[in-house]
Amino acid sequence: KQILVRLRGLRKHFEVKADMGRKSGVVKAVDGVDLDIYKGETLGLVGESGCGKSTLGRCILRLEHPEAGEVVYNGTDVLSLSRKAMIPMRSKMQIIFQDPYSSLNPRQTVGQIIGEGLTIHNIGKKSERMDIVRALMDKVGLRPGQIMRYPHEFSGGQRQRIGVARALALNPELIICDEPVSALDVSIQAQVINLLMDLQEEFNLTYLFVSHDLSVVKHISDRVAVMYLGRIVELADKHALYDNPSHPYTQVLLKAAPTANVGEKPKREGVKGELPSPLNPPTGCHFHTRCVHVMDKCRQHAPALTDLGDGHMVRCFLHSDKIAEDLD
Ligand code: SF4
Ligand code: MG
Repeated sequence: KQILVRLRGLRKHFEVKADMGRKSGVVKAVDGVDLDIYKGETLGLVGESGCGKSTLGRCILRLEHPEAGEVVYNGTDVLSLSRKAMIPMRSKMQIIFQDPYSSLNPRQTVGQIIGEGLTIHNIGKKSERMDIVRALMDKVGLRPGQIMRYPHEFSGGQRQRIGVARALALNPELIICDEPVSALDVSIQAQVINLLMDLQEEFNLTYLFVSHDLSVVKHISDRVAVMYLGRIVELADKHALYDNPSHPYTQVLLKAAPTANVGEKPKREGVKGELPSPLNPPTGCHFHTRCVHVMDKCRQHAPALTDLGDGHMVRCFLHSDKIAEDLD
């Protein structure tokens, strides 16, 4: 398998200023992540909101600059590139955002939105660019005749199709899908996911698919990584992860019963309390404050991410005594 993106020791910290009774401090949004994304795969990246998964995706695109670590894209060290050298790189990596409402400029036509990258990269004459845009609209299931319309004239699902077409315009290799269906009705979610899968097949795309919901990434992913407070706690082939979840946190996420009542929190067996503040995360294993299996050493040391076999990686002392020397 060819590695398209290689992350090593990635760290992205945010300084938080004191405000409204909150103490100042540092949030380690991404706290020592090693991860490979293989060419042509969909890697699902799952965790509760605030666990660092969006930040991790943004570091790959250099929308965030990490404090430490490596981002290697197809053999190129992305973080050391000059701004100019980054431009052709940018076209190979695109992002689809969660909220199609706020990520589309309401004053631009669909043609301008989808064609923006073509304009920036000076591709073709205007009429040629519009032909490319019409073809992209057709590809994502929009009517090319609607090229002069504005985003508010489209439904939520159609707006996300506009976002997908925009991401495709420059023939990317990698698309970071950041909660692309989380704002959509459940009935529309499957349509957009199926569209993404068809496009992946046709254009040989690689996806990093970020979601807070393990059930959403199940269908589309080849492998799944679970993140908790800045660290990967489990990473496995999809079938291994869903059939044999090995980290206590993954087990909790999988057991979380969806509830029919909007606004009601899903019941979580095997977990205590709320997600701790990322500002002062628990020492040792970050999950120790909520884990029903917690042992003394879990409070003092961070477990290392250890391969249980066939690339099924788990960060938990129930599976290995190995301590992560680079984490506190
Ligand atoms: Fe639970 Fe300890 Fe494993 Fe952390 S290392 S998940 S606290 S058993
Ligand atoms: Mg997010």
